[in-house]
Amino acid sequence: MAVLVSGASIAGLSVAQQLIARGHQVTVVERAPALRTAGSPIDVRGAALRVAERMGILGDIQRNRVMNSGRALFTTFVDAAGAPVAALPNAEAADSEDDIEIARDRLVAILHEAIGDRAEFRFGDAVAGVEQDPGGVNVTFAGGGERRFDLVVGADGIHSTVRRAVFGPERLFRRHLDVYFAIVDLPLGCGVHGESITYNAPGRMVGVSDFGDRTLGFLAFRSPERPYDYHSLGEQRRLLEDAFAGERGWGCELVLGAVRSASDLYFDSVSQVRMPSWSSGRVVLAGDAAHAAALFSGRGTSLAMIGAALLGEALGAATGGYATAFADYERRLRPHVTRAQEGVTYARDLLVPATAAELAARNSRFPLLAA
Ligand SMILES: Cc1cc2nc3c(=O)[nH]c(=O)nc-3n(C[C@H](O)[C@H](O)[C@H](O)COP(=O)(O)OP(=O)(O)OC[C@H]3O[C@@H](n4cnc5c(N)ncnc54)[C@H](O)[C@@H]3O)c2cc1C
Repeated sequence: MAVLVSGASIAGLSVAQQLIARGHQVTVVERAPALRTAGSPIDVRGAALRVAERMGILGDIQRNRVMNSGRALFTTFVDAAGAPVAALPNAEAADSEDDIEIARDRLVAILHEAIGDRAEFRFGDAVAGVEQDPGGVNVTFAGGGERRFDLVVGADGIHSTVRRAVFGPERLFRRHLDVYFAIVDLPLGCGVHGESITYNAPGRMVGVSDFGDRTLGFLAFRSPERPYDYHSLGEQRRLLEDAFAGERGWGCELVLGAVRSASDLYFDSVSQVRMPSWSSGRVVLAGDAAHAAALFSGRGTSLAMIGAALLGEALGAATGGYATAFADYERRLRPHVTRAQEGVTYARDLLVPATAAELAARNSRFPLLAA
């Protein structure tokens, strides 16, 4: 079958690899002009490790695990002047000792390399419209032109265009968890060698983590949903400047300074996507577009890889056609998604306490470890 995959991130590339391996003709369209490199290290965990092994990329993932993977502390919390006040053990964030933490851009590159030239890539273009009939799906592209495919996979993230075109407006499915989160590259080290340091004011978080070959800054703030253009770097910067106006605590100027000069950064609402069904006719959703678990779950990447494998297997095994395959994919993936979507507000409340009282309670719960 001729399949269009919208989105060249973890879900889209994993789905593309699985479909190519089963002999389908795959086109991948990605809005960005190249693979996006923003973002922090992410976890490959649980069943996703077995998926990676079957894809033949587990060795590459292991070789690229981040330097401080397996460290004892997830982060040290400091006060406004930078003095340590509390420490969060890694055991609060990790699943098991088998988890692999890998830079997101490395994982994307590994998945892309695994595909090589076996798929057609259209970078710098986007799905603009989707119309299906019983025989196929007509897709119009933002860059012009229309093409017909047998199936379309929407792997275009929490603000998925494919989902909007086929299933309805985003507000029906996406739930904002009252936090916005940004990740930006910093100059190497920044005095935080191999460590992660986090400062909180009520409802705000500033973090710096050094991963050896890359140092990242994090900003997060509590806020109800704000209307803005998701794709506008200028608007993302404006929201961050507004949220941190007047804040002078540890790391703030450093990370905001990097936001002002960055050519790319990750900025988004921390959201979950919950849908009653992930397919409609010949269109199916994968990854965050279908079932975002929210950044704080630490499971979005693993879910995207597991889902891609289940979709590939279902399409490979289906004798009853794509409808049976999509139903099978959904039946097998749902339990993983339900588990991942539970308990996410716990991590949010630890990392971005809303009030001074919650912040003090968090700090007393996680005292500094004795030296
Ligand atoms: C740049 C970036 C940085 C991230 N950093 C982190 C992080 O540090 N920690 C974390 O936990 N999660 C991060 N995430 C989210 C994480 O990648 C996902 O939660 C998870 O891996 C599932 O991935 P996904 O492929 O479903 O969605 P995403 O990774 O969000 O990928 C969606 C892709 O679709 C593309 N796209 C969007 N609209 C269209 C369109 N209309 N047509 C074509 N392409 C489109 C986007 O450019 C993107 O490449 C990041 C995502 C991105 C895009």
